[in-house]
Amino acid sequence: MEKIICATHNSGKLREIRSVLEPLGYTVVSASDAGLTDEPEETGVTFAENARIKAEAVMKATGLPALADDSGLCVRALGGEPGVYSARYGGMEDDPGRIDLLLRNISASGESNREASFICALCCLFPDGEEITAYGECKGEISDAPRGEGGFGYDPVFLLPELGATMAELTMEQKNRISHRAKALAIFAQKMKERNKWS
Ligand code: IMP
Repeated sequence: MEKIICATHNSGKLREIRSVLEPLGYTVVSASDAGLTDEPEETGVTFAENARIKAEAVMKATGLPALADDSGLCVRALGGEPGVYSARYGGMEDDPGRIDLLLRNISASGESNREASFICALCCLFPDGEEITAYGECKGEISDAPRGEGGFGYDPVFLLPELGATMAELTMEQKNRISHRAKALAIFAQKMKERNKWS
């Protein structure tokens, strides 16, 4: 079984990644379980660049294949913000603070357009220089106020108009059918199957 080190410390993300890669014959080990504590500075200006920075740091530290995910929320009324700064938006310490700032900034923009997207970029680097990337997007709208208890991050204000629910009102299974990360992982899994085909 080939071992892949996953550059995330988020257990929810790790669970999703394992559920896709283990059936393909990979053992997925978290960066913490591999003994890594340092996280590189995310200096990229795109999700893809940051995913690559994280994967490269783990691959260099372990000498093993490394997979990283970078994700976030882009809001049209805010010109694509918070984007790559989603996790540290406005220097806010917690998810409720970031959500509150987001809603206030949208109101202050005077824009009535509430369109938004969750984006996920995946990057897997192999010691021989091979690189596999994948990208996923989930489109929705920003609701007027938070709703729901599930998920994490901006899920309570991410409205899926066709379902009449926010992401935080979905079950984990429902979220995993439509989310940006699920879409990127499906593409990634397909590319990994193609990689394995002749080896
Ligand atoms: P990362 O861990 O650097 O990729 O930061 C991702 C940040 O984007 C998280 O801290 C959340 O604020 C936000 N985010 C990414 N994916 C999701 C999601 O599925 N739901 C809600 N927020 C998300």
